[in-house]
Amino acid sequence: MTSSTPVLTAEIGKTHIDIVIGDITTLDVDVIVNAANEALVRGGGVCGAIFRAAGPELDAACARLGGCSTGDAKMTDGFRLKARHIIHAVGPVWHGGDANEDALLASCYRRALEITAANRLASIAFPAISTGIYGFPGDRAARIATGAVVSELSAKAGSIKRVVLCCFDARSGQHYVETFAELGLA
Ligand code: ADP
Repeated sequence: MTSSTPVLTAEIGKTHIDIVIGDITTLDVDVIVNAANEALVRGGGVCGAIFRAAGPELDAACARLGGCSTGDAKMTDGFRLKARHIIHAVGPVWHGGDANEDALLASCYRRALEITAANRLASIAFPAISTGIYGFPGDRAARIATGAVVSELSAKAGSIKRVVLCCFDARSGQHYVETFAELGLA
């Protein structure tokens, strides 16, 4: 069962950062982030779930975008999702940690937040980008994701009032809970 009730919340200025366990495709937010591939085509994992829930209009919209580099992000409508928009962020494939993976992962979170603020949107939900098929270790990814979100919001939150870190399972949620504790956020 999916619930959007946070297991833990931190506040950075006027923005809430919520850890939520559930299916990101069900969340009622302005933006959900897709853990996309460079071709921006229907894939497995959370990407497959988002394409199924958004409907075939999403395949057509992505085809018009001309792909996306790793570390970058591009936005489409949300089509049949509750979420009004989808930001497709391309995370790095894990190659052992010496191939700039950390910086590329942080860049995904930063770019998605920049696009959200540039479009004056208030709420965004992220999956744990790269931690599934792309093989990035979950605890390390949670630290990078949280650090990037906190530093971006601290520098310039703009319109953003709520950031959801959406975990598909309790273990992944636990990585964020531990990170929040390490950083003294909650
Ligand atoms: P990547 O290719 O970037 O690793 P995956 O989709 O394989 O992307 O996995 C990224 C994360 O998304 C994993 O932690 C996975 O458990 C999670 N995930 C899979 N389906 C969903 C979903 N419906 N909602 C939220 N998270 C999901």
